[in-house]
Amino acid sequence: MSSQPDHPFLLIPGPIELDDTVLNSMSHYAQSHVGPPFVNIFGETLSMLRKMLQTSHPSSQPFIISGSGTLGWDLVAANLVERGDDVLVLHTGYFADSFADCFETYGVRAEQLKAPIGDRPGLEEVEAKLKEKRWKMITVTHVDTSTGVLSEIKGLSELVHRVSPDTLVVVDAVCAVGSEEIRFDEWGLDVVLTASQKGLGCPPGLSIVMCSGRAMDVFKNRKTPPASYFASIKNWLPIMQNYEAKKPSYFATPPTQLITALHTSLTQILSRPLAERFAAHREASQRIKKAVTDVGLKQLAEKPENQASGMTAMYLPNDLKAPEVLPNILKRGVIFAGGLHKEIAAKYIRFGHMGVSVTDLKRGDIDKALQALRDGLAEVGYKAP
Ligand SMILES: *Cc1c(COP(=O)(O)O)cnc(C)c1O
Repeated sequence: MSSQPDHPFLLIPGPIELDDTVLNSMSHYAQSHVGPPFVNIFGETLSMLRKMLQTSHPSSQPFIISGSGTLGWDLVAANLVERGDDVLVLHTGYFADSFADCFETYGVRAEQLKAPIGDRPGLEEVEAKLKEKRWKMITVTHVDTSTGVLSEIKGLSELVHRVSPDTLVVVDAVCAVGSEEIRFDEWGLDVVLTASQKGLGCPPGLSIVMCSGRAMDVFKNRKTPPASYFASIKNWLPIMQNYEAKKPSYFATPPTQLITALHTSLTQILSRPLAERFAAHREASQRIKKAVTDVGLKQLAEKPENQASGMTAMYLPNDLKAPEVLPNILKRGVIFAGGLHKEIAAKYIRFGHMGVSVTDLKRGDIDKALQALRDGLAEVGYKAP
């Protein structure tokens, strides 16, 4: 049983419920950020991140920096592209708009390739777009947290390598790492960026990025200096290399407790085969999606191949609005999220099912949430078919 005070289950697409041991790591006594015990923890955490993303190329470079997932966008935009470069942003929801906005902030031209809500751009469309001009980079949201749409990364990356081999493949996997399989080397990825509070099951506060050797070469061959100070790879690279070599180093103070919590979480995750973890998320997701369909609700992502394993975004029935339903679900001890996609925000709700809520079924999070959904809808007069 959890030793945490009684609280509603937080079943949104991040932050997610925390394991007790991970949570207790946050109350670690004060440690020097350059003392051997913490240097060791940080170094091991960076190495574990390689295993988590299935990369063994020595030239791959992990970064763990205090900040949220958004900082990963700045790291990419300020270091791997330069003013005037063209970036193709595949759009499956809210997060592509924001990533594009981030590029524009740095004077980088971002063009979005959009799909209808709930869908993703097809490979033929992407291929045609790739042939239009010289794209420095393509970005894709692995799981768009606003729509629950999953993008297929392996096939997309193969296409980019075939049609436009100099284009860097950047994956916004903030809501995918930990719940969806990612094979960094095998799929030929250049950047995978994530954060601590989603599938990795830690409190919020860490930006986590893996760069390929190829991406690091692009950085090294820049004509202009990095366009940011805190998000400068030039400033962070020696720090990450030193920590991983278990040598003290300083640019800006790392959040020692949070990194200790991430160390705990990655140790737990990697103590079992990754395939088992991804299968557990897939199975829970299929069970949830079937239950949601049985209640008569439609998902934003209609096609099964477009559906993420770590979350479900569903339209409300009978023109109900999220503020009419979410409080009823909360009364039953479960927190879901409202909509985030600008055009339809009030019409749907989101259920996050990642981490301990899925891997520790004894907790009963999923069954409680499904019951709360059914009862919460019944309370406002909805009758399931
Ligand atoms: C949550 C999320 C982000 C932003 O992360 P923050 O930690 O909120 O800054 C970016 N992209 C995706 C796909 C996300 O789910």
